[in-house]
Amino acid sequence: MSIAKKNALILVIEDEAPIRRFLKMALVDHGFSFSEAATGKEGLSKLAAERPELVIMDLGLPDMDGLEVTRQIREWSNVPIIVLSARENENDKVEALDAGADDYLVKPFGVGELMARLRVALRHANRLSEDQLDSTFAFGDIQVDFAKRQVMRGPEEIHLTPIEYKMLNTLIRYSGKVVTHKHLLRETWGGEYSDETQYLRVYMAQLRKKLELDPAQPKYLITEPGVGYRLKVDS
Ligand code: CA
Repeated sequence: MSIAKKNALILVIEDEAPIRRFLKMALVDHGFSFSEAATGKEGLSKLAAERPELVIMDLGLPDMDGLEVTRQIREWSNVPIIVLSARENENDKVEALDAGADDYLVKPFGVGELMARLRVALRHANRLSEDQLDSTFAFGDIQVDFAKRQVMRGPEEIHLTPIEYKMLNTLIRYSGKVVTHKHLLRETWGGEYSDETQYLRVYMAQLRKKLELDPAQPKYLITEPGVGYRLKVDS
């Protein structure tokens, strides 16, 4: 699948110069164009002026909280946002995702991880702008047919309960991206259940039993500790 246009412009909002340099090198090396801002304010004005195709944003900025920058961006733009968080601030990344960020990377991260996240986020953005949703989806040896609400492994149908199907459906819609506990609960059970993370554990265990060859070591239905779940896809 073709992903981003060559030279897609990536805006990096990050106050630490060494991380900006690292990102610049990695992005330019992979054919992206690069723009940078060292503060939240500068980032917001560059976003408006340059219209990048994706934003990589540190959560710890000197002038504004990265969460606040994310919220302000989401008031008028759907640009994919990948946030960078420090390992010690576990809650920040969950809040950032719930505020509208698309994904996160924990520092320090490698180029491979960065590119994988970038590809997924850009692909989702392209799909949304084309308003094109496929009627089937496959991962590993599992095939999902949305029109028939049918899940197959080869010729054999796998029976999912309505809740299991809804959960899987949400993970597929965001495939490759992390879905927070809150988000998954809201989509599956509705907003009033958004704190019941034990529901997720129970149903995720059932889903893995039905879909994973080794439910104890899932290859597709991945736990993101303290954050949520991710349907891992080959990219
Ligand atoms: Ca910082």
